[in-house]
Amino acid sequence: MKWEDNVRRVVPYVAGEQPNKPDMIKLNTNECPYPPAPGVAELAGRMDTKALRLYPDPNTTPLVDALAGYYGVKPNQVFVGVGSDDVLSMAFLTFFNSGKPILFPDVTYSFYDVWADLYRIPYKTCALDQDWHIRPEDYRQPNGGVIFPNPNAPTGVFESLAVVEEILEANRDVVVIVDEAYVDFGGESALPLLKKYDNLLVVQTFSKSRAMAGLRIGFCIGNEKLIGYLNDVKFSVNSYTMNLPAQRLGVEAVRDDTYFKVTTAKIVGTRERVKEELKKLGFSFPDSKANFIFAAHDTIPAEQIFHALREAGIYVRYWNKPRISNSLRITIGTDEQMDRLISFLTGYVGKYGT
Ligand code: PMP
Repeated sequence: MKWEDNVRRVVPYVAGEQPNKPDMIKLNTNECPYPPAPGVAELAGRMDTKALRLYPDPNTTPLVDALAGYYGVKPNQVFVGVGSDDVLSMAFLTFFNSGKPILFPDVTYSFYDVWADLYRIPYKTCALDQDWHIRPEDYRQPNGGVIFPNPNAPTGVFESLAVVEEILEANRDVVVIVDEAYVDFGGESALPLLKKYDNLLVVQTFSKSRAMAGLRIGFCIGNEKLIGYLNDVKFSVNSYTMNLPAQRLGVEAVRDDTYFKVTTAKIVGTRERVKEELKKLGFSFPDSKANFIFAAHDTIPAEQIFHALREAGIYVRYWNKPRISNSLRITIGTDEQMDRLISFLTGYVGKYGT
């Protein structure tokens, strides 16, 4: 048993299941229901596999340049990783080393406490208010860094840039990470605040709004000093994090801005319609600016609905955790998928609701 005393033990993050059943409706991991931009398929179809003989560009230069151009920043302000989970993990490792607790909301992305535990970073959670909003005054206490998603997950609640800035203003001596995985569905990015705050890191992903969860591309934008430190750590872990196909296909996704805007607008339109349908069925939820809705039914327990949906081949996400155990996180799919969900729920609520 001796060697086991020295194992780095962690309780891992539990990812949403990835079933692959015919005719299922997958609304459990916030993927995009539409394919990536047409240019991605086109390039994938004519990709020269002989190039795979070589290591990929360790600096992911074309993708970094494409993102810098798109967001109007310098290439040395952009860091790319294997999904935003990789970017976030590297950022925890790089920036949260003071020994003081980092702060994040009590209801939030459930990977934050896992990375904190993995890297031995102390943390403290700050309770969201009863409407699921961040209370900025909670972030005025001494801390070793701050992280929160905006919009938040799994609630979908968006905080105004005034709130984000209030938190930044109170935390100028630590790194503040804004995880904008869902910002393209109606939120507002904190990127303009980079001009004022050199301790701000904005993290985004290709997994949701750019329909490329399978390729694993995430990135962050910040002051060039922050990005330099991130790169030092990344190059001390693995030089070639991002594979060649991902680097090339990612550029194609950035290039097609029209497709990006049309797709995200379509998802937002579906989301707004589904909100109305869910309300009529007796569901309530905080107003979501993400590609999911966090809904609780007035009379039927969430866990019961979750199992019934699963039986019917409709997958949503459910957590049996404090504060959120009576809500279901429902990803916005195509209109047709959402019609099938609503039709199932109409029958179910008719039968079991009171
Ligand atoms: N941040 C938040 C808030 C998320 O919900 C997710 C998706 N699980 C991620 C980051 C990571 O996404 P990815 O690694 O696919 O970019």
